[in-house]
Amino acid sequence: MKKLDIKIGDRFKRLNITALLPSKNKRRMVRAACDCGNEKDYILQNITIGDSSSCGCLRNESVSNAVRRHGMNKSKTHDVWNYIKFVKKEVCDKWNGFEGFYSDMGEKPENMKLARLDKSKPYSKENCAWVWRSETYKRRISSFVKA
Ligand SMILES: [Zn+2]
Repeated sequence: MKKLDIKIGDRFKRLNITALLPSKNKRRMVRAACDCGNEKDYILQNITIGDSSSCGCLRNESVSNAVRRHGMNKSKTHDVWNYIKFVKKEVCDKWNGFEGFYSDMGEKPENMKLARLDKSKPYSKENCAWVWRSETYKRRISSFVKA
């Protein structure tokens, strides 16, 4: 196989090469930053042949697209889950998978958002409720849920 001429700044799908690293187990290593902001080390070959075309966020999106195709998520339910899992990073074990979240909370109702009742605890069935987007309603409903 011909030696690839890779340099900093080269781009492979979502990954931008930011550093050339010493080889590991005779594999050429590079550091690359994903469009989503994640920077990781990769085996160069995996990037160039397309196995790693993102840090993993692309795969997560494909999963979510697959779920959509199955009609499980016509609404924004999956986006909510994505947000609490990947941005907030505080979910109960069951909610590490979208299915667990979906079976507990169901589909996201129109004009409502997910609220955590106790902010010191992770997102979970016991600790969450769909509430109206309006702040007034939100407070009213979360005090109702707590009561
Ligand atoms: Zn990414």
